[in-house]
Amino acid sequence: MKIIQNIKEMQQEIRYSKSLGKSIGFVPTMGALHEGHLSLVKEAQRENDIIVMSVFVNPLQFGPNEDFECYPRNVEKDAALAEDAGVHYLFYPDASEMYPKPLSVKMLVKERVNVLCGAKREGHFDGVVTVLTKLFHIIQPEKVYFGLKDAQQIAVIEGLVEDYFFPIEVVRVPTVREIDGLAKSSRNVYLSETERAEAPALYESLKRAKEKIENGRDDPEEVKNSIKDFLSLHITGAIDYIEIYSYPKLERVEKLQGEIIIALAVQFKEARLIDNIIINV
Ligand code: AMP
Repeated sequence: MKIIQNIKEMQQEIRYSKSLGKSIGFVPTMGALHEGHLSLVKEAQRENDIIVMSVFVNPLQFGPNEDFECYPRNVEKDAALAEDAGVHYLFYPDASEMYPKPLSVKMLVKERVNVLCGAKREGHFDGVVTVLTKLFHIIQPEKVYFGLKDAQQIAVIEGLVEDYFFPIEVVRVPTVREIDGLAKSSRNVYLSETERAEAPALYESLKRAKEKIENGRDDPEEVKNSIKDFLSLHITGAIDYIEIYSYPKLERVEKLQGEIIIALAVQFKEARLIDNIIINV
């Protein structure tokens, strides 16, 4: 595995791989790798010759009161995990490489953004599409892999790729969970012992809701209330939102039918956890 920090060097390697007719699968991350990230690599390996992973904590997608400064970073450990998983190139630029000067053209996400995390994290998805546009131009992958844990991110990126004709297929990868159901996340390390013990209730509440829907409940408000009641009993964290929308358009639904997402966010003391479940009703 080669670790590359420089954009020009990365582009040379990509040109070389393409000249040999190799297909490129791309896994963008912010590092602090865990099995969730590695499952994206596994999926990418099945479908591509060359796997490129980026590790870049993108300052543009963090709000002023978010955890950019203290986001977990450990590139040596990440490099070892990526190499073991079969990544060929680890692209690890620093912020001055990706943003050498103030942007003269800014990107603004208009749809699928004013709900869920996007509603609370102003400018977050603008930062996400900006960095991905840069990365897509550098890496030029045929396929790019994202986790459904961040389902709104996938919805927004599918919009980006469609609107701007990126010749890239967006592959949705299922959420990898701990044995007790908690979605793996780099932010789980911020949980206290008590919070960690409570955290599986997030997924449990979603599974119960899914069961209710499969048994014929079709009123979104009723399902959301049942999740709220369950969480109130089982967690000390504050419920940030519990929402149900169509997926991937993220539009309000009166009745539970078609492809829908039930998504929730809970603010614990030092960690904000999100989870979701997508159901085809
Ligand atoms: P991040 O490093 O948090 O930006 O995540 C990089 C990629 O890994 C994103 O596409 C995430 O959706 C994905 N990811 C994070 N956690 C998980 C998980 N538990 N299961 C599957 N994919 C995940």
